[in-house]
Amino acid sequence: MNRLEHTRVYKETNQESSIVRINGVQFGGGSFTVIAGPCALENSEQVLATARSVEKAGAKVLRGSIYKPRTSPYSFQGVGRQGLEFLKLVKCETNLLVETEILLPSQLEFLTEYVDILRIGSRNMDNFELLKEVGKCSVPIILKRNMSSTLEEFLLAAEYLLNAGNENVILCERGIRTFETYTRNTLDLMAVPALKELTHLPIIVDPSHGTGKRSLVLPASRAALAVGADGLIVEVHPNPDQAKSDGIQSLHPSEFATLMTELKSAAPIYHKTI
Ligand code: PEP
Ligand code: MN
Repeated sequence: MNRLEHTRVYKETNQESSIVRINGVQFGGGSFTVIAGPCALENSEQVLATARSVEKAGAKVLRGSIYKPRTSPYSFQGVGRQGLEFLKLVKCETNLLVETEILLPSQLEFLTEYVDILRIGSRNMDNFELLKEVGKCSVPIILKRNMSSTLEEFLLAAEYLLNAGNENVILCERGIRTFETYTRNTLDLMAVPALKELTHLPIIVDPSHGTGKRSLVLPASRAALAVGADGLIVEVHPNPDQAKSDGIQSLHPSEFATLMTELKSAAPIYHKTI
């Protein structure tokens, strides 16, 4: 790998692994932290039912997009700014932290008021102007790997955030596009130990977008724990068949509970606490 000078993201400049701490929840430092929730927030019943069930199963953060970058302009685009009310409700009714995707710098002001973690999605990993702006805020950021980026490109995108002043960056491997079409993406599990060699930043895995198939979420999650990931971001929906997006890869709450039970018993083998 051709290292540039003055990079903050590489391990040489910061031998200690970074721990991102957010109100009692941490990414890195021996924790295996699970984020779970719907692909998209739809209504308060869906959001609260999901939040309660994933909290009970052991998730620490509720995921949920209110802005959805979709392949087709005719697909559900998200509930928009009104979705902040759902996130507020989750903060009132549970002890979960909340995260959502940011698409534009103009959304920063109101999202940072309510959200504990901002997510930069795969399609925006190399939207450098967005990275420069989001990097100026102090809210922790999940940066998802672009589906066609190399690890170096991924790390240099994280470098934009660090360089802008935000050191609380969590990397997320979510699969890359290959010739294989049986799975939605090819989950690059070796990216996890490879990134651990290269960077001090914590790394989580998205087994939902990484596989695109509900049946593969559990094996992908087991594998993520085994290769040293610091956590997961998993799609869960109370009624996946009715979901407005990504129902096919979303777990039913009972399947998520099973996944958590299994991961909790396996975690000590890999020196992780859930
Ligand atoms: C998501 O996590 O909601 C999402 C859209 O995933 P990605 O950006 O990885 O495609
Ligand atoms: Mn999704």
